[in-house]
Amino acid sequence: MKRALTYVCVYCGSRPGNRPEHTEAAIELGRALARKQIGLVYGGASVGLMGTLADAVLDAGGEVVGILPRWLESREVGHSRLKELHIVDSMHARKQRMIERSDAFIALPGGLGTFDELFEVLTWSQIGLHEKPVGLLDVKGYFEPFRALVRHAVTEGFALPEHEQLFLSNPDPDALIEALASFERPVYGSKWVETPKAP
Ligand code: AMP
Repeated sequence: MKRALTYVCVYCGSRPGNRPEHTEAAIELGRALARKQIGLVYGGASVGLMGTLADAVLDAGGEVVGILPRWLESREVGHSRLKELHIVDSMHARKQRMIERSDAFIALPGGLGTFDELFEVLTWSQIGLHEKPVGLLDVKGYFEPFRALVRHAVTEGFALPEHEQLFLSNPDPDALIEALASFERPVYGSKWVETPKAP
């Protein structure tokens, strides 16, 4: 059965990156969300890929919800065109609000902040705090090292093979959104290893 995707959260760089393909992908994703009438939830900034993405959604007539921590308001330059911009008290509150507000998550290329957000939404999924789909918009193979790192954890016995299925990967925005709507969560036992009771 297909999931209704009313809001999708996108994590991406507060910098534009070196390749024009990254900017083009942010614009394509923004247009695809607007076309499908899916609202964008993101970090509320006007800089880097974040700003490009929000502008693309707004220019295509879509809806954008920004969530920005107070202390970052000036640094990341709160986006001035947003009708809905929530100012929260901390980075943690920001991430939690973004997760609560969204039906699915997409990571575009980004830096450490993007990785932090991506890992947090996946670790929350891993332990069952939410069951929402997560996708990587894999522009120019940007997320290949990310997938390799997770595979390494599985090979070394620190993650289950099913954990690799908690996220999808596709270079095409429309195909990725379709895949998120059809996502079926892998079924696996408890993430936690039962510790034998002391005799
Ligand atoms: P970056 O990918 O590093 O450009 O950052 C993308 C977004 O992640 C920006 O909005 C940053 O404010 C945010 N961010 C950076 N570091 C963290 C962190 N430790 N926790 C949560 N969000 C962060």
